[in-house]
Amino acid sequence: MLFSFNKKKSSDLNNDFKSITENLYKQNSELAEKNKIFSLLRKLYQISILTLDPEQLSAEMSETVRDTLEFELVSIFVLDDTKNNISPLALVTSNRLEKAQKDYNCSFSCVIPNVNENDFFKKILQNKLESHVSDLGIWSNCISPENLKTLTERSNIKALSGYPLIIEGEAIGTFIFCLNRPFENLTQYEKESISSVVDIISVALNKSYLYRELKATNSKLELANENLHQLDRQKSEFLSLASHQLRGPLTSIKGYSSMIIEGDFGETSPQIKDAVSTIFSSTENLVVLVNDYLDISRIEQGGMKYDFTTFDLGTLVKQVHTEYIPVIQKAEMTSTIDLDATQTYLVNADQGKLKQVVSNLLDNSIKYSPKGNIIITLKKTGVKVCLSISDNGIGIEPEMITKLFQKFNRSQDANKVNVKGTGLGLYLVKQLVEAHHGRVWVDSKGKGKGSTFTVELNTVEK
Ligand code: ADP
Repeated sequence: MLFSFNKKKSSDLNNDFKSITENLYKQNSELAEKNKIFSLLRKLYQISILTLDPEQLSAEMSETVRDTLEFELVSIFVLDDTKNNISPLALVTSNRLEKAQKDYNCSFSCVIPNVNENDFFKKILQNKLESHVSDLGIWSNCISPENLKTLTERSNIKALSGYPLIIEGEAIGTFIFCLNRPFENLTQYEKESISSVVDIISVALNKSYLYRELKATNSKLELANENLHQLDRQKSEFLSLASHQLRGPLTSIKGYSSMIIEGDFGETSPQIKDAVSTIFSSTENLVVLVNDYLDISRIEQGGMKYDFTTFDLGTLVKQVHTEYIPVIQKAEMTSTIDLDATQTYLVNADQGKLKQVVSNLLDNSIKYSPKGNIIITLKKTGVKVCLSISDNGIGIEPEMITKLFQKFNRSQDANKVNVKGTGLGLYLVKQLVEAHHGRVWVDSKGKGKGSTFTVELNTVEK
């Protein structure tokens, strides 16, 4: 009894072992297959990251698919502008198909016309579905039927499949491959894997096309930018020339109108005097404008000359302030100057240019403060010297603070108190200060709350 029981057990065990081994073998091959596909998808993903050129990307991806899945032919076809012809962006074949093409002096790399009249392509491009055929007839316009038959036999091709390459919902081409077995023989897993491959290729192609477009747009923008720079240079040159030409006549208008006002040509009626005074002050504004334009065009053309010397900024500020006292008084304003008279504020700078900076800021404080007091402060902190000009005028809206130093920018309220402004003064101030490696900025608590403009320069004192 015991013997027969053991014998039965042993045969059962044998069967179990066989089935386990078979199962293991099956699972192992499935695992190997999955591993192969996984590594293929990873390689395609890497190519998509490293390659941006559509042709190179298509070639590398097609080769990788051909080598991993052992396809006889892999190709990425894209529609041309007519959307009726399709041409290969990449087409790679197995070694034997390559040799067969050479032997029969023919090539699969050709444009396939009239795809809209072809059932195989219509299904792919119009219905956006995959399509399968068992021959290579799609190349009948470039390879003779006899050659196609021989090539099919020599490379043992059993099926040709096409999948749509879809970008933003539109089929832009097809992914085509040739197999050594009927398409139906592929496992469900293999079919799904091919779909994933096609998805990766579509996304990568989309990215590379976008990159190409971006590059083309960038080059156009660069060109447009260069043209704009050129126009800007020409404009600056023109302005500089025009301003030079204007200076002479303006000087004589100013000179003669001043002489008429002063009575150098005899007594004039009060009406004439009034009219000539208006001519004189308008001419003065025009002179300021012409000088600003001239300076800006010089700066922008890199032609501004600077004469650096070492001098006391304190003395310069006091001098400008003194010159402005009559203007301040005329505006019914007061001013105070706050600096340490016992010390110097030595800077290495262009005295004329810094005078222009201080005058400009002081002039603005008067223009943009209907009434009130202006405080000029000079302070030394370490290696820096700071000049601040504060007023309790119209102030500046927070959103305008950073914009005022750009050309032609003026705050909304500026026009109410100074219609003649051009928005060039602060731009010029910034350019001049920066040419001295300094900084200029403005602080204001807002509309109607006054402003403080500060210029920071390097002192040459220890
Ligand atoms: P302009 O005075 O000719 O308009 P600026 O470049 O000198 O040109 O000034 C630009 C703008 O900055 C002015 O239009 C004004 O809006 C504002 N601004 C300048 N200085 C002051 C100030 N002290 N207070 C308030 N706003 C000012």
